[in-house]
Amino acid sequence: MDLSIGTEYEAFREEVRSFIRGNLTDDIREAGRLATSVFAEPSRAIAWQKILHKQGWAAPHWPEQYGGTGWDIVQRSIFSEECLKANAPPLIPMSLLMCGPCIIGYGTDEQKAEYLPRILSGEDFWCQGYSEPGAGSDLASLQTFAESDGDDYVVNGTKIWTTYAQYSNKMFCLVRTSREGKPQQGITFLLLDMDTPGITVEPIIGIDQVHEQNTVFFDNVRVPKANRIGKENDGWTVAKYLLMFERGGQEYAPSLYFQLANIKKLAEGVIVGGETLWDNGFFKRKYCEIEIEISGLAFTENRIKSALGNGQNPGPEASMTKILGTEISQRVTELAIEAVGEYGVPLQVDAIEPGSSIDGVGPKEAMAIMPKYLNTRATSIYGGSNEVQRGIIAKAVLGL
Ligand SMILES: Cc1cc2nc3c(=O)[nH]c(=O)nc-3n(C[C@H](O)[C@H](O)[C@H](O)COP(=O)(O)OP(=O)(O)OC[C@H]3O[C@@H](n4cnc5c(N)ncnc54)[C@H](O)[C@@H]3O)c2cc1C
Repeated sequence: MDLSIGTEYEAFREEVRSFIRGNLTDDIREAGRLATSVFAEPSRAIAWQKILHKQGWAAPHWPEQYGGTGWDIVQRSIFSEECLKANAPPLIPMSLLMCGPCIIGYGTDEQKAEYLPRILSGEDFWCQGYSEPGAGSDLASLQTFAESDGDDYVVNGTKIWTTYAQYSNKMFCLVRTSREGKPQQGITFLLLDMDTPGITVEPIIGIDQVHEQNTVFFDNVRVPKANRIGKENDGWTVAKYLLMFERGGQEYAPSLYFQLANIKKLAEGVIVGGETLWDNGFFKRKYCEIEIEISGLAFTENRIKSALGNGQNPGPEASMTKILGTEISQRVTELAIEAVGEYGVPLQVDAIEPGSSIDGVGPKEAMAIMPKYLNTRATSIYGGSNEVQRGIIAKAVLGL
């Protein structure tokens, strides 16, 4: 079976490559190369987004009328693959992958005109206010309350794990507007400005010593009702639509292959007992086992892509790829730790900040491996924990 991409796409691939070659600056590339999480250093990620935006390529998956590229699914894959190979930093997903599609799906014409151009240009930086101290997997039990008061809501409560709230000027969030009926029925979807009086952001430092997450407190925060997306008490519909973009359609295999190839390069340079680590049978066996798993995942992802290309939804397969993609990612980072040996032991996050003048121990790529290993532990928790995904498969696929 020939699964290679047809020759008709070669000119497109060359166009993308040549654009990246001519526009991806060294300092932006460094942010991609040394990224230790799915988020790159934000100022450089935004700088790359602005470059792509000028070319009209910031949001390939959006409908063309709102600023998408009109590319088919193969072209979108080629674009992602070439960005990956060039070490371009990943773009911030909360704006382009989550909030934007949601406004396109449920926003009014005024809301689309106000927010979408600023999302594309990177002018607005969004964070996601869904989870609360008592509401994660069971999101519908959220308690942050928005009291109606004239043309405004007055919001009180706490959001937690809010990624990059410290850089965001906007938040999309879920609030409770009614305690009547089923928990899902009284939820409303709101957009708010992070500089509104009454909002406090407190850092949560991860096990990798990096500040990505936050707790956000709301104390009588006034939010205009005009900022509501969809109807009052119908936010669950909007939230589910958004989660489809967060959980579905994500491709793991290309990035995993890429990371594995980097591990091979590292292992070829490490000498253990007179041979390179790459020539060590035990190491190579682990490497090959992971490679086989990635190729299985790639087949499933290609099936999903083909279904999406035919206008279907990802369905429960998205839960399968979420579980496989994140669990293989964790194994890849474990193998990377083996490949760098003692360089993996010290945690040197300051030394790998893009532009840092701090001299660390070992090559920069090696310094990025321990924080990446630690950060990758969270992938099986966020975006719907893997246990919850297994529950979905049990019900939707196995009929249990
Ligand atoms: C790094 C990171 C970034 C995040 N970023 C954001 C963000 O930007 N915005 C945001 O809103 N949230 C964010 N989150 C929160 C994330 O969505 C929640 O952590 C996740 O939904 C799990 O919820 P919880 O932490 O409350 O754990 P719980 O839901 O309390 O789960 C605890 C454990 O119980 C298991 N469990 C729960 N329910 C079931 C079930 N029905 N069946 C089987 N097992 C179950 C879970 O799998 C888990 O192991 C982030 C989390 C992390 C770790």
